[in-house]
Amino acid sequence: MSNSTTINSSEIEDIADQIRQGNRRMLARAITMAESIRPDHQEKAQALLNELMPSTGGSIRIGISGTPGVGKSTFIEAFGKFLTGEGLKVAVLTIDPSSKRTGGSILGDKTRMEELSRDPNAFIRPSPSGGSLGGVARRTREVMLLCEAAGFDVILIETVGVGQSETTVADMVDLFMLLLAPAGGDELQGIKRGVMELADIIVINKADGELIPVAKRAANEYRSAVRLMRPKTKSWTPKVLLTSALKKIGIEELWQTIGEYLDARRDAGELEVQRAEQSSAWMWSEIEDSLMNHLKTDTEVASKLSAMEEDVRDGKLSPTAAARAVLGIFMKK
Ligand code: GDP
Repeated sequence: MSNSTTINSSEIEDIADQIRQGNRRMLARAITMAESIRPDHQEKAQALLNELMPSTGGSIRIGISGTPGVGKSTFIEAFGKFLTGEGLKVAVLTIDPSSKRTGGSILGDKTRMEELSRDPNAFIRPSPSGGSLGGVARRTREVMLLCEAAGFDVILIETVGVGQSETTVADMVDLFMLLLAPAGGDELQGIKRGVMELADIIVINKADGELIPVAKRAANEYRSAVRLMRPKTKSWTPKVLLTSALKKIGIEELWQTIGEYLDARRDAGELEVQRAEQSSAWMWSEIEDSLMNHLKTDTEVASKLSAMEEDVRDGKLSPTAAARAVLGIFMKK
């Protein structure tokens, strides 16, 4: 992949072919390009994604969230190893808006998923660093598509509860899983009600040793809570399961439940609709982001904007009148 600004379609086709054949090095390079903010890289990455679109969509997309310490990396390692043991290829992506090029992040500091990272049928890609949640999410969606084109069967997208990151992940997957600790009450665990409502499967992890009774009690409590919630879809009522990521207990049952979920939603024709809606929502958010970006970087707008904002703050100009004036300047161009 050269850095030339002109897009060479035979070069794009060649890269696409290699990705379809599962060439890891090429996949990694394409991801780097998709994550780059350089306009020429972006243009190439978009051309490549377009070329690869017909080869995407074949994976099971699973979101996994849980507060730090609940056992996400241990769980993904155990679950990922189970899946590769079933002969499946697994990609693990992360959305962590706290991650920066320098400095720490909630998910990235320790060495994570050591065993899985050595597995030839697994591919682990940490969160793109820096930027807004929207920016991080866009790149993760694109990386997901690239991984699908490269033949991964299961894509796991992990996130920690930072801001809106759970909603963002839930909006790009087929199934959203919430990992909880074996303790009672979502208030105790710092879980927002909204996040509970996103979950298709709730997993009480660390159900081992002396934690088993607490985990069972928590599971019952969450089962009752789920019954009181407004169901997300017609065809599925969220299930509560117990696992021990450490002792590798309950993983197979979980995989079975994921299969039941996918069957139920596919049979109801809902999964296809959900993906279609996710794609169009993605398009609209791209349009909104891009418009805002153009607006904010427009020099003519910028020259008037701060004075107008000041007038709005001082109560000299109505916010609507200011907004109209700003848009008027922008749209006349
Ligand atoms: P993360 O911050 O959510 O990624 O959590 P980690 O995977 O790093 O796990 C946090 C701690 O919980 C570690 O000390 C793990 O060994 C422990 N842990 C994770 N899963 C289990 C489990 O199933 N049972 C028990 N007893 N401990 C676990």
